[in-house]
Amino acid sequence: MTRALWFILKLAILVAIVVWLAENPGAVTLAWRGYVVETSIAILLLAIVVVAVVAALLYRLWKAIRRAPRRFGRRRRARKRERGYQALTRGMVAVAAGDAAAARRFATEADNLLRDPPLTMLLSAQAAQLNGDDRAAEKYFQAMLERPETAFLGVRGLLNKALRENDRPVALKLARQAHDLQPRTPWVLTTLFDLEARSGHWEQAERILLEAQKLGAVAPDIARRHRTALLLERSYEAELAGRVGEAQTLAGSAHDQMPGFAPAAVRSALLLARAGKPKPAVRTIERAWRIEPHPDLADAFREIEPNADALAQVKRFERLMSANPDHPESHLALARVALTARLWGEARKHLSKALALRPSRRTYRLLADLAQEEHGDAIGARDWLAKAALAPEDPGWSCGNCGAGFGSWRGVCGNCGSFDSVQWRETPTGDALAGPAGTDLLAPPEPRQSAA
Ligand SMILES: [Zn+2]
Repeated sequence: MTRALWFILKLAILVAIVVWLAENPGAVTLAWRGYVVETSIAILLLAIVVVAVVAALLYRLWKAIRRAPRRFGRRRRARKRERGYQALTRGMVAVAAGDAAAARRFATEADNLLRDPPLTMLLSAQAAQLNGDDRAAEKYFQAMLERPETAFLGVRGLLNKALRENDRPVALKLARQAHDLQPRTPWVLTTLFDLEARSGHWEQAERILLEAQKLGAVAPDIARRHRTALLLERSYEAELAGRVGEAQTLAGSAHDQMPGFAPAAVRSALLLARAGKPKPAVRTIERAWRIEPHPDLADAFREIEPNADALAQVKRFERLMSANPDHPESHLALARVALTARLWGEARKHLSKALALRPSRRTYRLLADLAQEEHGDAIGARDWLAKAALAPEDPGWSCGNCGAGFGSWRGVCGNCGSFDSVQWRETPTGDALAGPAGTDLLAPPEPRQSAA
């Protein structure tokens, strides 16, 4: 609307000027080198306007021609960059798809087109890796390490390579470097934690674990289990170094972290007993038994008072059993001490209850012992042992990572070096049943792979 008004206004002004010029024609005479032009003011003005418009158009054309090469160059560069990004994208897709040849082709193309090393180096490195050229990949990652904007990607590439090659000292160094660069990245924290723990750096591992837990990179229950394992390992280390008091305090902290975790309760109780404190030792085992009865706890409970006679042991175990009276382990533990005390009826009662709750090889073996010792019944004992062979395997300590079985718990798997992977499992593999659990409860775990 305003535009139409504006147009009408302009038209009116123009018409007014034309009318005014028609009414006041005037005369102009131009004389130059013998030529004489006679015209009116209106024609002269029109001629000036036409000349001005033509001059303006010519100037614009000249400017456009002058700028053309620069504009052409810019457009060509933009097209090149676009093709470069396209090659980069396709290269990344090829890496994700595992197409080594395409990845290499697009990496070279992107590198040529973009000439922006920080952008293309990662693709080049991944393409090299995919083509099995680890040395070239490492070269790219090293180069990325030199630039602050790509340093983290470089560290990540080198760290993954070290982890793949199982080169723990190098991996640990790189993980620490990655942690310095990006201290809040979850995978950096969990990787660094694992490497510190596998290397036996318990206190560093504990610190990293706390950071990881704060960021939610580790679930609270897993973090508590790891912390318990670290405290137990520190306790073993302190004991080996002759710091028995510290060993006991650390074992106590481990037990407080997870009161139902048998290895922590056993270690804490036995160190207390050894320090001449049998009462808190008994309380520790009872606390754990209430949460989760375990054969290792029963062994430790007996060991707290090794000199008690057989009947006194039965009395002690009756009290322990009252903490968790309906658990098969309670019946088994009591049956064992009853057998030693030659209380046959008592032993039989608890073995049959254990059998009703959960048939197991241990129960059948104890029934064989009972038949042999009570009546000298070798045939009856053999029958029970035959049943034991067919019964479900007893749970044992085994590594969740490699499946290796162990006679007792340890923080680092002696077979594959994983940290906190040895757990009490229903279906142990390997030689988990080689020896009775907890034969050497106070001994530190066997020498482990870590020595860094
Ligand atoms: Zn293992």
